[in-house]
Amino acid sequence: MTRAFTFPGITTRVVFGSGTIAQTADELARLGHSRALVLSTPNQEDDAQTLADRLGDKAAGVFAGAAMHTPVEVTEQAVQAFRAMEADCVISLGGGSTTGLGKAIAVRTGADQIAIPTTYAGSEMTDILGETAGGEKTTRRDPAIRPEVVIYDVDLTLTLPVGLTVTSALNAIAHAMEGFYAPDRNPVIEALCRDAMRAFKTAIPRLVQDPTDRDARAEALFAAWCCSTTLGQVTMALHHKLAHVLGGSFGMPHAETHAVLLPHTTAFNAVAVPDLLAPIAEVFGTPTGAGLWDFAKATGAPLRLADLGLAEADLPRAAEIAMKNRYWNPRPFTEADIRNLLQAAFTGTRPAS
Ligand code: NAD
Repeated sequence: MTRAFTFPGITTRVVFGSGTIAQTADELARLGHSRALVLSTPNQEDDAQTLADRLGDKAAGVFAGAAMHTPVEVTEQAVQAFRAMEADCVISLGGGSTTGLGKAIAVRTGADQIAIPTTYAGSEMTDILGETAGGEKTTRRDPAIRPEVVIYDVDLTLTLPVGLTVTSALNAIAHAMEGFYAPDRNPVIEALCRDAMRAFKTAIPRLVQDPTDRDARAEALFAAWCCSTTLGQVTMALHHKLAHVLGGSFGMPHAETHAVLLPHTTAFNAVAVPDLLAPIAEVFGTPTGAGLWDFAKATGAPLRLADLGLAEADLPRAAEIAMKNRYWNPRPFTEADIRNLLQAAFTGTRPAS
């Protein structure tokens, strides 16, 4: 008999394809809005301005100050700009940093959001917002945080550098990895995760060869949607906790840190739930953590926390912080387990399980 489950439903409207950014004005009209503030990082300001120009009088202006880990000082400036321009909604054009700023404005103003993601990080389908104040990152979940519309345009991902393409994909795979064993998983999520693993496995090596391969970009972006949906629907565990600790307390880069941790957190939990993680082993090879490590190595991903700027002397404090605010994980762990896991990720050894 099929296992009992609850599927909470997907409330976000999704538009997926090539050239879909052209539908932004229609989506704005559908939401009943006519003055959007377009958000981006400084890097993607030109793209944000092009979108604003295209929207004409439907755009209130551009705020191009989005930054990683959503610093509250930036959010305050953006909210000021939102109010000064008399905007009635936000359009977030960019990766997780820009989507995060859109969410931070939305929770403070009640604004609707259209997210147009250009990486595979996966913030767009979630009700999660992480914010940094005074050097500390806190995360909350609230239905008001979830964007109303997500427009996936494959064309916008053609410029994603190869390095970020690989690490951002591994960041997305981490959502699926924890989705497979999440206590509140359901068959819809499991199906999405299986599809995502297969799509990334074929698309990423092709994109390493040719980052402008449109078919591979489409496969990867579809997989990113599956993984983002997973992140937005089910409970994450040890892997996300460790990435959060390293990003929030040690300023480690988001996608790269997820990429380095993934084989090690997978290996640690595969010992406890080999059957639930079998779809990963089927796609990437065995043992499960080592299969992901081999894939990461073959695609040129960073393999060592040491190379991302973490000091070995920081490992005990990272393990100590990770033990605070206990959270669910399929395999129980001690502080010593976390130390060992972080040490393996620090030196980049191939996992044994
Ligand atoms: P990012 O958004 O910081 O982007 C990294 C850099 O790449 C930026 O300079 C950006 O402008 C540039 N870039 C993005 N797309 C590009 C493209 N197509 N072409 C060229 N350059 C491009 O990085 P990220 O990894 O996407 O997001 C990381 C942030 O997202 C973190 O703050 C993380 O906490 C957050 N996040 C939140 C959630 C959530 O559900 N709340 C989920 C995932 C990530």
